[in-house]
Amino acid sequence: MKDKKIIIVGSGIGGLVCGSILAIEGYDVTVLEMNRQIGGNLQTYARDKHVFDSGVHYIGGLEKGQNLYKVFKYLNIIDKLKMEKLDEKAFDKIHFYTDGQEYSYSQGYDLFNKSLLDAFPNEKVAIDKYCTTLQDVCEKFPLYNLRQGDYMEKSIYLEIDTKTFIESLTDNTRLQNVLGGNNPLYAGIGDKTPIYVHALVVNSYIESSYRLINGGSQIAKLLSKIITNNGGVIKNRTEIKKFVVKDGSVTYVEAADGKRFEGDYFISNIHPTKTLQLAETEFIRPAYRNRINSLENSVSAFIINITLKPSQYKYVNTNYYCYLEDDVWNSMAYTDETWPLSYALFFSGMPQQTEFAEGMTIMAYMKFSEVEEWKNTFNTVGKPSDRGPEYEAFKKRKAEKLLDVVEVKFPGLKAAILNYYTSTPLTFRDYMGTDDGSIYGIAKDYKDPLKTFISPRTKVENLLLTGQNINLHGVLGVTISSVVTCSVILGMAEIIKKIDDAQIE
Ligand SMILES: Cc1cc2nc3c(=O)[nH]c(=O)nc-3n(C[C@H](O)[C@H](O)[C@H](O)COP(=O)(O)OP(=O)(O)OC[C@H]3O[C@@H](n4cnc5c(N)ncnc54)[C@H](O)[C@@H]3O)c2cc1C
Repeated sequence: MKDKKIIIVGSGIGGLVCGSILAIEGYDVTVLEMNRQIGGNLQTYARDKHVFDSGVHYIGGLEKGQNLYKVFKYLNIIDKLKMEKLDEKAFDKIHFYTDGQEYSYSQGYDLFNKSLLDAFPNEKVAIDKYCTTLQDVCEKFPLYNLRQGDYMEKSIYLEIDTKTFIESLTDNTRLQNVLGGNNPLYAGIGDKTPIYVHALVVNSYIESSYRLINGGSQIAKLLSKIITNNGGVIKNRTEIKKFVVKDGSVTYVEAADGKRFEGDYFISNIHPTKTLQLAETEFIRPAYRNRINSLENSVSAFIINITLKPSQYKYVNTNYYCYLEDDVWNSMAYTDETWPLSYALFFSGMPQQTEFAEGMTIMAYMKFSEVEEWKNTFNTVGKPSDRGPEYEAFKKRKAEKLLDVVEVKFPGLKAAILNYYTSTPLTFRDYMGTDDGSIYGIAKDYKDPLKTFISPRTKVENLLLTGQNINLHGVLGVTISSVVTCSVILGMAEIIKKIDDAQIE
């Protein structure tokens, strides 16, 4: 297949998994990335000798026999990943400021069920039904299970919204909020987020939850090696400005410096709206463009990455989702006065279990409108520029406010901080190449499920889409999206067989 050339635009995990699969299967792969560092949201950066992730804090489905494990085994990277299992009894804790209560999510359905039942002894029926429904939803999504199937299997779950489903289980509002408590994992919106998004994401973490030690860039490095070891090429600092279409096919993509890259297939790992902006052709009809352009993106975030003074702050092998009010679905409805209504806190993965933490990340929702006045600035490591003193003051004000709130639940943290570094929606916009810094891309909507399902195929026959906007976001979701994209070239049965065969020891 070395005579078939694949051009991939974007080196997020979507582009890199597609590139790896196609390189392994004998195609001639070139990946083009606008940033200096490959990986998109897998990018890491070091401060005070501590490595921070830009967009991956923990990953589900990585235990032997589980879905992400299987794809990574086929790619031959599973045994090379440096990772650490989160606390089996409490990989996540949901905390409410209103009464100081804390609830644990445990790994494995038996333990998960038991932990919830310990906290809510009268809610056995609701908890059992929640667990069985989650597993049933996941079973109905064939590709999530890396098997072939038909669209109709999942149709019964497409038009149910998460919040309504959870409320149907019990009148206990605290249990309802605990069950929706890690919804920042998918930027959940009441009356919008379908149950299948909740189920596919939360199930993967209940099955197993791992942190990557020294960050997600290790996945990008391992995948890039597969591509180059199989004769492929990865070009960083190559921003694509145009997909040039002739007679219904892309003939080449053109970079900002005018360089052209010709190919037989073109895979876009960038946001579909952006892809359409770059592909001016009548083969993509206005109705399709309008549909894609009308889709709402998920919210963005404000992040504080903290380095800690040595031996000052106890390490905890658990993630925290903390709410200042009881309703876990209301956090995006903040005002300047009430922000933040919630935050998530992740300790950095440690090379060895130690008593004290070296770093942590705190994430709170932030809308792009908050940074609108600096929208004409651009700043990355590759193209540095200063957004000005007012922006710096804005970030400082937000960081101090968030840290004051966090200090209430984590006393002593502020005194233990060595340094902190912040990211805003502008950071995500500039590093990921989106318009609004959306953290998870297009938000799915149970009211019109088909509208937010985006096929990897386009009307331009050799232009395919991949990444978090196809199927599902997250390391797991995007990896499966990549399998779907590659199946257009390789055939679904063939690729599933290869993944199955790779599991045989
Ligand atoms: C704050 C945050 C926390 C997260 N936490 C987790 C987590 O804990 N666990 C988890 O599984 N997932 C998490 N995610 C989600 C996960 O990181 C993403 O869903 C996933 O990495 C997206 O991969 P992608 O391949 O779709 O796209 P991206 O990672 O967005 O990659 C797209 C790439 O395309 C490049 N590009 C864009 N335009 C161009 C162009 N014109 N020319 C060339 N290159 C271009 C970009 O530079 C980028 O490298 C998080 C995301 C964020 C933002």
